[in-house]
Amino acid sequence: MTTEAEPTHTAEQLEALAATAAVELENASAQEIMRWAAETFGRRLAVTSSMEDAVVAHLASTALPGIDVIFLDTGYHFVETIGTRDAVEATMPVNVITLTPRQSVAEQDAEYGPKLHDRDPDLCCKLRKVEPLNRGLAGYDAWATGLRRDESPTRANTPVVAYDPKRQKVKIAPIARWTQDDVDAYVAANGILLNPLLFDGYASIGCSPESCTRRVLEGEDARSGRWSGAGKTECGIHL
Ligand code: SF4
Repeated sequence: MTTEAEPTHTAEQLEALAATAAVELENASAQEIMRWAAETFGRRLAVTSSMEDAVVAHLASTALPGIDVIFLDTGYHFVETIGTRDAVEATMPVNVITLTPRQSVAEQDAEYGPKLHDRDPDLCCKLRKVEPLNRGLAGYDAWATGLRRDESPTRANTPVVAYDPKRQKVKIAPIARWTQDDVDAYVAANGILLNPLLFDGYASIGCSPESCTRRVLEGEDARSGRWSGAGKTECGIHL
């Protein structure tokens, strides 16, 4: 967790830092980007992980051992995803922080009706992902994610560093420029933990309802199995 001894930055300082770093680090390696983030923000830096794999958690732990890794437990995860979270927590030099929504699934069902994910996935994601993350990031100045430009056309312009004005945080995407081949090479070279569902036809792993995550077909981009048919491409965290 963050400590009061860590330096903090004003929103103006964070915005200026991000603007400079976005230019200077555009062609830097993922390791260089994470080193800059660790040196700049110290314990006020966190990394978020969907527990699809532990690539960014590994990169971050190399730059800042003991770094906080935030996992959003929506209550709808595959057991394999929870197992990957537990394995990361048990085997890596990171501090896994599991955030939960304000309501359990049963409480949400009682207020909004069952299977909100099928009827209004934007509201479901807002309640179970966006609000908990916004709450969880309150004590940090910066957060790193595993967003990559080649995951889908909607992520093609992902900056390596940007200022997130809504949350007033610096958002870092150290592997934004990586291809799937780059990810595979890093996984192989470093023995990175992977969610077993990646070997079962899932290319992007979110919540378990079929309307939220399905296997991808030959030739589809990695995120085409998310909210397939709902006209939705992002949960809202990255919008
Ligand atoms: Fe709800 Fe599906 Fe979003 Fe998970 S991915 S929070 S189940 S709509």
